[in-house]
Amino acid sequence: MRLGSIALCLFVSLPALGRPLTVLIDPGHGGSNVGAPSRHPGLYEKQITLAIARALKQQLSLAGHRALLSRDEDRFLTVRQRSRQAKQLGADLFLSIHANASVAHDKHGVETYVLDHQTAELDEHRASAAVTGAEVLFTGLRTLDVRQRSIALGRVVQAALARERAAEDNRGVREGGYDVLAGLEVPAVLVEVGFLDHPAEGARLLQASEQQRIAYALAQAIDQFAKSEPAPFAILRRENGGER
Ligand SMILES: [Zn+2]
Repeated sequence: MRLGSIALCLFVSLPALGRPLTVLIDPGHGGSNVGAPSRHPGLYEKQITLAIARALKQQLSLAGHRALLSRDEDRFLTVRQRSRQAKQLGADLFLSIHANASVAHDKHGVETYVLDHQTAELDEHRASAAVTGAEVLFTGLRTLDVRQRSIALGRVVQAALARERAAEDNRGVREGGYDVLAGLEVPAVLVEVGFLDHPAEGARLLQASEQQRIAYALAQAIDQFAKSEPAPFAILRRENGGER
């Protein structure tokens, strides 16, 4: 992009979004990448994440949002194929759904991840390498904006997931070097909805009622984020439009 067009980039404070969002829901794993095993033979993380993702899509659609799935069947996708869809489909928000497992099978609880600082910086450097001058500043501001909004989203999502759990089940908002969250230009989080190998929690996660409850909590959080979370700033328009 030519430097002259930078002047047309508008960084402005926006009021609360309060509008229907296009949400890309990413059911973790799929195909040969089965994810964590559950305590039930033949049932893996990939099936649980898809069930929750489908229920979430339904809940979000009912709330008036446009919800899309990165996969709606049992198939393998690379992390890049998942995150790339966010841009292709014009998503406002990216949510990757996963379930946990622990070595001693004794951990339980829910946690929400945002991209860690180091990976976000690497990402920014990679994006900046392809541009010059004021575009570097532009890329830096966008990275900062996405990070702040992802953390805000993470807090709302984690609070909703933890709401109906015991206090010790709230494992908090964390940072992780998850490649699936890298390179995204919209708020993005990854949720771990519980430990599939824990005797009690693992059994609960296999139940359709629990999957529905998790989907409902996630939908409530996204709806709340859309209505109340002001974007610190957004890039409204560039010379040839399109990017934001
Ligand atoms: Zn996973």
